[in-house]
Amino acid sequence: MSSPPFCLAGIVGWPVAHSRSPRLHNYWLDQYGLTGAYVQLSVAPGKLALALPGLAALGFRGCNITLPHKVDALALVDEVDANARRMGAMNTIVVQPDGSLKGFNNDGFGYIQSLLDAQPDWRADAGPITVLGAGGAARAVVLSLADRGAKEIRLLNRTDAKAQGLAAEFGAPVKALPWADRHAALADVAMLVNTTSQGMHGHPELELDLAALPKHALVSDVIYVPLETPLLAAARARGNPTVDGLGMLLNQARPAFHAWFGVMPQLTPELRRAVEATL
Ligand code: NDP
Repeated sequence: MSSPPFCLAGIVGWPVAHSRSPRLHNYWLDQYGLTGAYVQLSVAPGKLALALPGLAALGFRGCNITLPHKVDALALVDEVDANARRMGAMNTIVVQPDGSLKGFNNDGFGYIQSLLDAQPDWRADAGPITVLGAGGAARAVVLSLADRGAKEIRLLNRTDAKAQGLAAEFGAPVKALPWADRHAALADVAMLVNTTSQGMHGHPELELDLAALPKHALVSDVIYVPLETPLLAAARARGNPTVDGLGMLLNQARPAFHAWFGVMPQLTPELRRAVEATL
C-alpha cells in the first residue's frame, strides 16, 4: 500500500524569518490530519529565477511569495491568473499536475473575507468608500472593492501622482483626490480604509481629522502590528465599527492551502489567538 502524499509548501522571501505563514499553514496541516510541512525558503534577491524551477522536482505543491519577489515572480511562472495580472503582483504559486507553475494573488480575497467575517451583511455598494494609500496593499483593496460592486472609491495618496496613476489604470469607480483633501473626503462615506504604512509599529500615526466621518462608517486598517492602530482606536472611541488587518492576512492564506492540499481551511478563534500571540 502506498503512503499518503506528503503535503509540502513554503514561503519564498528575503527575509522570511518574521513570516506568520508557517505557523498558519502548519496549524492547518495538523488540524486536518495531513502529513506534510510548510517551510521557510530564504531566497536572496536575484536568485528567484534559480529557485522556482526546482519547486516541482522537489515535490512542492506550491509556495507563497513575499517581499521582495512579489512583482518579479510574475515573469518567472508559466501562467499568471487574471487577478494577479491586474494587481501587478503575485503572492501564491501552485504547481500544476504537469509540473508547470501558475501564479495567483489572494490578497483581495483575504481583504473582502475579513470584512465579511466582521460584518456578515457588509456591502461594497453601501455608499462612497475613501481609501488612503496607493501602494501594493491599496491595489488589492481597491480592485477587490471595485469587483464587489463599489460605486465610488475616493483614492488619496501622499504622492498624488500615484493615486492619479491608479485611478487612470483602474477607471471607474475609482477617482483620485488630492492628499490635502483627505479630511473632507470622509464626508458621507460608508467606509474608510487605511492602506498606508502610517500607524504601523515604528511609524508615525496617520494624520487624519475624523470630524467629517459619519458615525456609522466602517473603518478598516490593513495594518496588523499593532492590531489596533491609532486610527482604529480613534474611530472606536467615537463609535465607528472597525476591522483590523489580521483578518486579511489570515484569510489570504486559505485559498492557497485549498489549491495545494484540497481542503479549504477555516479560521478559528484559537488560530487567531495563536497568531495574535506572535504579533
Ligand atoms: P507600499 O510601500 O507599497 O505603500 C506604502 C504606502 O504608504 C504608500 O501609499 C505611501 O505613500 C504611504 N506612506 C508612506 N509613508 C507615508 C507618510 N509619511 N504619510 C502618508 N502616507 C505614507 O506598502 P504596502 O502597500 O505593501 O503596505 C502598506 C501597509 O499595509 C503596511 O503597513 C503593511 O504591513 C500592510 N499590509 C497588510 C496586509 C495584510 O494582509 N493585512 C497585506 C499587505 C500589506 P507614497 O506613495 O506617497 O510613498
